[in-house]
Amino acid sequence: MRERESEAGAAVQKRCAKCGACTAVCPVYRASGNEIYSARGKRHLAEVFKDERPGPVFEDIYAKCLLCGACSRVCPSKLDIPADVVAARSDFSMLYGEHGYQKFLARKALNRPELLGAARVLGSRAANILFGRLPAASGLRLRLAMFGGSSSLPGHDDAAMPRSADTSAGTELIYFPGCAASYLYPDITANVREFLQGYGYELNIPDGLGCCGLAAYASGHPDEARRLARKNIELLEQGDGPILVSCASCFAQLADYKDLFERDAHWKARAELVGERVVEISCFVENLLQDQDVAAQSDRVLKVFYHDPCHLRHDRTITQEPRSVLRSLPGVELVELADGPQCCGQGGLFHIGAPELSARIRDDLATKVLALQPDVITTSCSGCLMQLKTAVAAADSTVPVIHLAALINARTR
Ligand code: SF4
Ligand code: SF4
Repeated sequence: MRERESEAGAAVQKRCAKCGACTAVCPVYRASGNEIYSARGKRHLAEVFKDERPGPVFEDIYAKCLLCGACSRVCPSKLDIPADVVAARSDFSMLYGEHGYQKFLARKALNRPELLGAARVLGSRAANILFGRLPAASGLRLRLAMFGGSSSLPGHDDAAMPRSADTSAGTELIYFPGCAASYLYPDITANVREFLQGYGYELNIPDGLGCCGLAAYASGHPDEARRLARKNIELLEQGDGPILVSCASCFAQLADYKDLFERDAHWKARAELVGERVVEISCFVENLLQDQDVAAQSDRVLKVFYHDPCHLRHDRTITQEPRSVLRSLPGVELVELADGPQCCGQGGLFHIGAPELSARIRDDLATKVLALQPDVITTSCSGCLMQLKTAVAAADSTVPVIHLAALINARTR
């Protein structure tokens, strides 16, 4: 569906109708009030300067995109704006946009994701010592928020749904945890493992799986993305069953690996086969629970806010499955935003390159979510999880932010 890579200038193949539909849904335009950051603004710029080498201003405008896909979903001309932005970025200078050096370092760190493990150990220690002592608005406190914050679930012990009879005993299931669940939030992997063991599955995480490559792809480095993809594909070919993915961003990237190999039929075919096998966690669990007697109910209502990752909402429209899973858990009451789901403003490396805009989008969402007075906030994307933890800390709230797998595991015993 998405045209992942194109030659310089090919981003302007189809014409923008200038209808403005995208401006109504673009989080960056809404947060900045600057139309040049909307899809229409970017397209206009690309059409006017299509034969010129991108300068720093052009690069910075194209850096200000979350690649959320909201614009493409409403675009009557069916323009694939995220693909256009990524293609344009492949022509940019190495440190393009504001905070280019920090983005470069973050991307490089994902080539050595074990560094994230070290960051977690140090960050968690610092968060334990400093978090409560720093003022609410402290920048350091907000940076530490991704390592801390409450992750305990109120009242889950007495309200768990019994897992069904073990019908899949010993079934091996390949699992792609991604960098975050491997190193930054290993409790995600632990929860996925424990929950699925209750249904007779044994997780198989092939040795050597690395970053899915989304950060490299999104910042306009297709060769780096392909290198990471090839390595993962080879390892995932160890089996031929489903590949479970618990991070929405990794899921979207793996499912679209084939688009990285438009000019390489051999790898495209292999990527296609892997892509067909990846299963997003809420889809897997919904399927698993559908035959279950949802008998266990609870008097204690747990108000849950589920945040839709953009990679599931716009790219794949996986929005009902996580809600269906949550509704099937005892005592869970879903609370929703009156105006519908909103982007959290993380956008991969966007929150590093455009911290002020990212914080504005984040805080707007947090204000609305916290007004619903949820007992817990959950999501299934590691990037969103990080951003929501920071959002809650920035609002000086203690509402737990936990991965969907942790919530499911806690409510099924
Ligand atoms: S992908 Fe998202 S952030 Fe980028 S232009 Fe479209 S709506 Fe705006
Ligand atoms: S919705 Fe599509 S056609 Fe309309 S202004 Fe935006 S990019 Fe152009």
